[in-house]
Amino acid sequence: MTILAKYTKLREHYHRIAGAGRDPFTVKFDAMLSPTEGMLNGRRTILLGTNNYLGLTFDQSCIDKGVEALKSFGTGTTGSRIANGSYDGHAALERELAKFYGRENCMVFTTGYQANLGIISTLVGKDDLLFLDSDSHASIYDAAKMTPAQVIRFRHNDPEDLNKRLRRVADHPGNKLVVVEGIYSMLGDVAPLKEFAQVKRENGVYLLVDEAHSMGVLGETGRGLAQEVGVEDDVDFIVGTFSKSLGAVGGFCVSDLPDFDVLRVACRPYMFTASLPPSVIATCLRSLERMQEEPGLRTKLMANSKRLYEGLRNKGFQVGPDVNPIVAVSLPSIELAITFWNRLLEEGLYLNLALPPATPNSQSLLRTSVSAAHTTKQIDTAIELFGKVARQLNVQPALVQTAAE
Ligand code: PMP
Repeated sequence: MTILAKYTKLREHYHRIAGAGRDPFTVKFDAMLSPTEGMLNGRRTILLGTNNYLGLTFDQSCIDKGVEALKSFGTGTTGSRIANGSYDGHAALERELAKFYGRENCMVFTTGYQANLGIISTLVGKDDLLFLDSDSHASIYDAAKMTPAQVIRFRHNDPEDLNKRLRRVADHPGNKLVVVEGIYSMLGDVAPLKEFAQVKRENGVYLLVDEAHSMGVLGETGRGLAQEVGVEDDVDFIVGTFSKSLGAVGGFCVSDLPDFDVLRVACRPYMFTASLPPSVIATCLRSLERMQEEPGLRTKLMANSKRLYEGLRNKGFQVGPDVNPIVAVSLPSIELAITFWNRLLEEGLYLNLALPPATPNSQSLLRTSVSAAHTTKQIDTAIELFGKVARQLNVQPALVQTAAE
């Protein structure tokens, strides 16, 4: 038995997926032409699975700021902020994020994954209780594994179920932290945050919202779902990422909690990893500004999202419950999803293949994410290609859940 023998089943599963055509886990782009187009195997390919919601990855002013910082500060910080110190940019980005959210404090992390991992696992200790939505992102589940706190899962997007579970432990003396997401990353479904906020108030617990997919997407100024539904005062911690709307990499948490800064010397995924390169920080500072300067990006993003969502639904595809930039098409089997994904790629459309066990209710998903930078023509081409491949595979009738309008 080798040390990797425990992965035999996983390897078999992987070979089955990769063997059906292109390996979805090792797609390699030859070049990026724009936020919405890349070269893949010598072919121009529409990018419809990048989470590049505002299309800022090629924004000239962001690139210029990044290059400037690269020249002034070098390629990396080569260590963590508590060991090697911070650069002006790190502090400036934290200040700007705190200002943007109207909060006292902000901590920037090297990835969004580490922001969740670090903040959640450090906030709750052994006497505390951590309540997670059952469809939580891997970074939240991994945080749950790291903390000594007792972890209690509640039904996905079900405030009543959370309330019931909180009432059962009403006498528990420790602190209680509830974690939900704004927009869920697989199906694009939105949390009933108003109702969660009410449960939070009634039970006197802390509430953390991961706005990774809703920052820059929802809310009057792009602060996310809490802003959109008017419950920001009820949210104690907002976690977000720079890898989606801001077009770079990194993560953060903002809060008004006094003494929040103590986490800088308690939170291991902050303390024991290198901080973000100044060039990344500089592009994020600029993209955060761009996001605020141009609310029209959000309007365009939503118009594109609606067009794709309705276009696919009208062709009879089963899509998620809410209209937003994550539009996921559910297919009846893993095999069909793999074949469909390969055919779309051959036609010049790239999106994400999401399969069980990584998906809610073990669904086989073709997950798309829309950008403000997509043209109407690109969205319409994507819809047509979905229809074309469905006809080629002769599977259209099996897909129809709602009658085509
Ligand atoms: N939270 C959610 C809900 C996510 O979907 C992701 C990544 N897709 C993360 C956190 C982690 O963010 P990052 O990729 O920036 O590390």
